[in-house]
Parts: sequence; C-alpha cells; structure tokens
Amino acid sequence: HTFLLGKKQNETALPVLKNISFSVDKGEILAITGKSGSGKSTLLNIIGGFMKPTSGSVWIKEMNVTNLNEGEYADFRLENIGFIFQNFQLIPSMTAFENVELPLVLKGLSEKERKEKTEQTLEQVGLSNYHHHYPSELSGGQQQRVSIARTLVIEPPIILADEPTGSLDSETEQEILDLITGLNRDLGITFLMITHDEEVAQIASKQIHIHDGEIVKEEVSA
Ligand code: ATP
Ligand code: MG
Repeated sequence: HTFLLGKKQNETALPVLKNISFSVDKGEILAITGKSGSGKSTLLNIIGGFMKPTSGSVWIKEMNVTNLNEGEYADFRLENIGFIFQNFQLIPSMTAFENVELPLVLKGLSEKERKEKTEQTLEQVGLSNYHHHYPSELSGGQQQRVSIARTLVIEPPIILADEPTGSLDSETEQEILDLITGLNRDLGITFLMITHDEEVAQIASKQIHIHDGEIVKEEVSA
C-alpha cells in the first residue's frame, strides 16, 4: 500500500499542511519528526480519516480513501488501520481484557471468537496475567501494551502511532520500541510513527521531517 498526500490548503485560514507528498511502502516503518505545532498530528489525523484535507488525496492500498464518508471510513479503519497514542486512550472503566475485546465487539464477532482472539493478543504483548486489571492498576508501559493489543486485535496492516513512547521512561520506551519493531518484522505491519526523539526515529526505515507544515527533509535509513 502507498500513501500519497496532496496539498492541504484553506482559503479562510492559514494552511496547516502544504505541499505534503510522500509514500510509504508496505512493511516500512516511517518516522515523522518535527517540532511542536509543525503539523504532525494533523497529518496522521488526515491519514486516519479523522480530518479531511481541503485539497489533495490520501491513497491506502491503492485506494483513494479521501472521499469516504464517516461511516465508510470507520469500516475501513476497522479492517485496515490501527492507532496508538502517547496517552494510551484506554477506557478507564474497562479491564485490560474488555479494552482489547472492544474492537471485536464493534466488528460483530461471537463471544467465543472474541475471547480466543483477545486472550491470544494479550499474550502476544506479554500481558497474559493482566486480563482483569483496570488501566489505573497498570504501569505506563503496561497500559501502552494494552493499547497496542487493542489495535493489534483487528490485525491491521497499518498502524498509526502518535508519540507512542512520549509518556514513558527510557527503559519502558525501549521495551515498547522492541515490541513495535517485532510486530513490523514478524507480521509485516507498516508503521507511521510520530516522534520528537531522534533515537526513537532510528527504528524507522524512512524519516520525514516536517517544519511549518511542509516536508523539509526525507531520509531513507541505510
Ligand atoms: P505537537 O508536537 O505539539 O503534538 P504537532 O506537530 O502534532 O504538534 P498539530 O497538532 O498537527 O502539531 O498542529 C499543527 C498546527 O495546526 C498548529 O498550529 C495547531 O494550532 C493547528 N491545529 C491543530 N488542530 C487544529 C484544529 N482542529 N483547528 C485549527 N487548527 C488546528
Ligand atoms: Mg501532535
């Protein structure tokens, strides 16, 4: 699958993104870097279908997804795109198990299928013994594992990650980066990951650097 982003322009306000055009190959890890306010999250929100560009288009798996309506994009996401955030965005009133199971409820799977898949995915992220824990009873790294499991459970070919290690200490950060690189290597999941941290960006096969809404540097790792 390939992403091609066109221009985002807005006649009435200052454009947040301009002349953005890049592609990501299947199985790649792309790092998106740039200072605060440069437009990184806006870019991921457009790719994830949460915002519409005023012009230009997004192509995912050879499909122009720009004109999908909200419901169609929601269905598309449930099949194709996973999300990880800096602040985990878990539902506090639900256990780890229930958080991970939720996308499968949305997909309409049977209880038996949901249980099997949820158990398997929690094991994949190393949380077999934490099914009944609520987010408040878990460390930051464990909460990020739950959030990765919640996204992994739909088997997405693509995961969009907005500062996935931004709230973690350096040791936990490394564990989460190892998990991400393992998923990329073993399952071929494509990652688009925002980070302000040069070291984190090193796990990427390609980097784009955004400044004031424009790509000012594009690097392919050796
Ligand atoms: P950070 O590293 O702080 O998360 P970022 O690179 O992710 O920053 P964005 O959140 O994409 O930056 O914001 C880019 C610019 O767009 C900023 O000037 C911001 O104020 C503006 N912006 C973001 N969201 C909106 C919105 N919904 N409406 C109007 N302007 C917005
Ligand atoms: Mg941001």
